[in-house]
Amino acid sequence: MPPGGRLGPGYLTDEEKQNKPKVTKKLISRIFSYLKPYKLQLVFVLGAILCSSVLTLLPSVLTGKIIDEGLIAQNMKALIFYIVLSFGVTLLANLIGILESYLNTWIAQHITFDMRNSMYSHLQKMSMRFFTSNNQGDIITRMTSDISGVQQIITSTLTSIISNTVTLTVALVLMFSENWKLALVGIAVVPLFVIPTRSAGKRRWSITKDSQACSDEINGILNETLSVSGQLLVKQFGMEKREYDNYKSINKKMIGLNIKESMAGRWFRMALGTFTNIGPMLIYLVGGIIMMRFDKTITVGQISVLVALLGKMYMPVNQLLNIQVDWIRSMAMFTRIFDYYDMKPEIENAENAICPDSAVGEVEFRNVRFYYEPDREILHDVSFTLTKGKCIAIVGPSGSGKSTLINLIPRLYDVIDGSVLFDGKDVRSLDLGFLRDNIGIVSQETYLFNGTIRDNLLYAKPDATEEELIEACKRANIYDFIENQDTGLDTVVGNRGLKLSGGEKQRISIARILLKDPALMIFDEATSALDSISEQKIQDAIEPLIATRSSILIAHRLSTILNADEILVIKDGEIAEHGTHQELVGAGGVYTQLYETQFSKAADTTPPNLGYSEGESI
Ligand code: ATP
Repeated sequence: MPPGGRLGPGYLTDEEKQNKPKVTKKLISRIFSYLKPYKLQLVFVLGAILCSSVLTLLPSVLTGKIIDEGLIAQNMKALIFYIVLSFGVTLLANLIGILESYLNTWIAQHITFDMRNSMYSHLQKMSMRFFTSNNQGDIITRMTSDISGVQQIITSTLTSIISNTVTLTVALVLMFSENWKLALVGIAVVPLFVIPTRSAGKRRWSITKDSQACSDEINGILNETLSVSGQLLVKQFGMEKREYDNYKSINKKMIGLNIKESMAGRWFRMALGTFTNIGPMLIYLVGGIIMMRFDKTITVGQISVLVALLGKMYMPVNQLLNIQVDWIRSMAMFTRIFDYYDMKPEIENAENAICPDSAVGEVEFRNVRFYYEPDREILHDVSFTLTKGKCIAIVGPSGSGKSTLINLIPRLYDVIDGSVLFDGKDVRSLDLGFLRDNIGIVSQETYLFNGTIRDNLLYAKPDATEEELIEACKRANIYDFIENQDTGLDTVVGNRGLKLSGGEKQRISIARILLKDPALMIFDEATSALDSISEQKIQDAIEPLIATRSSILIAHRLSTILNADEILVIKDGEIAEHGTHQELVGAGGVYTQLYETQFSKAADTTPPNLGYSEGESI
């Protein structure tokens, strides 16, 4: 795959022209640093390219000998000798060619292997901010086609530069050593076949660009309308016909462009055929005139050698003329890849990170300020303490900063000001592995990998026994469901767990956290997708855990927080009130209002729901 997936003939798109990379010495030496480990193999490749380029030209020279010393001199021995030699040389050149492409591919594959691995591990270290602010498609393109482009550079661009230069130089030397006058004629003929093919190529390139844009559009439509959520929307709004018509019309446009492109290719081939045929004729003509009128020493064989060598020059000249574009594209691609490498992970382990033996899960927020974007502060001066074994509940309107607050504890983001302490130590001074191992979050958006329920559970504890898995599922109230499946724990959950209901997914993710068994448990509206019956069951499962370990609950439903040791009411990024349910409910503040509003709304449900279903806020 070409860099960026769009390596056309020798023309740059307007965008490429505008964003030409700065090719500095540093960039080049950085690129070559990837080749360094394969120095020895590279020397072999270089040798192979040289040999095969020279050997490919030899049969052209031998043609002259076959004609002059074999055919014209009527010497059968010489004729057979040169023919066999030609055959041998060609065979050898091709064998060396095979070795060269094997080595080439081997080096390219190893370099891309190294690059992919280091890029993947680098990206794993990037913070959540990186993933929320960068387009997912962009990240994947860099991991896939940009890095694959590197392979293309090594197997094609670099090889092409070397082999074409060698071929051209050797062809020129051979031409001049054969006969300088004819060589000059040969060189004069070269532009004749280069110019028309370049202009034919230009037209083809412009059509290719249009058809690329068209194919991007088609892919976009397919991506949007054939995805699970897209199809749901199409079906709900009955848009099948409109989407079909839309798809059909773009598809039709694509057909037209494809035909045009293929015909431009036809013209291209015609121009190529005509001029590669006319070129030799011109040499025969001019060579013939010189031979007959001016220089009797020129032989028929020599003219034939010149014609044969000229034929061999066509491709290298054309390819070298296009190389500059490949080169710019390659450099742009490397620059894009290096841009990612140079992004410093925002959240890293401190140099002398502390890694205690065990944790109790105490948390303290000291005057914490936080924003995603500097112009919009989300948390202002938040302070609270969660002591060992206690449970804090956080309630507050949608968007008030509850999830943001808990994301600061496992350092998904770092505070802007103030500090977050875990077991009395600033989280920034603790070993990240230790910190995250000791915190378990059941988040709002449950994510399950496409695999079996077992795979998803083992993610939390790879060495869990069957009994442990079953026990965790029972405690999370999901075992009944699993038992009812034909394949039990080996039931496939589908893309992002979409084959399961929201509640089932959530219960599996609770079982996953139960297996992880961390010192601090955080439930971010963990029971929001459950009906009241299973919610109660989950509640029964969660309660013993909360009773024995430090925990934070973000909840919309009052039922889940009644027993919390302390309730924090967050409003506009600040702690508006705090206290126990009993204290707050009678205090006449925000919590009381909430309670009363909800109580009157949910008069028939006990206890009331503070969750303000869909779009409503506390
Ligand atoms: P809810 O109850 O709806 O889950 P919440 O109280 O948990 O809401 P947060 O998710 O913490 O609210 O969001 C707080 C604010 O921060 C919101 O206004 C949201 O738009 C903003 N926000 C959240 N994540 C990001 C992000 N990655 N980049 C920029 N802004 C964000």
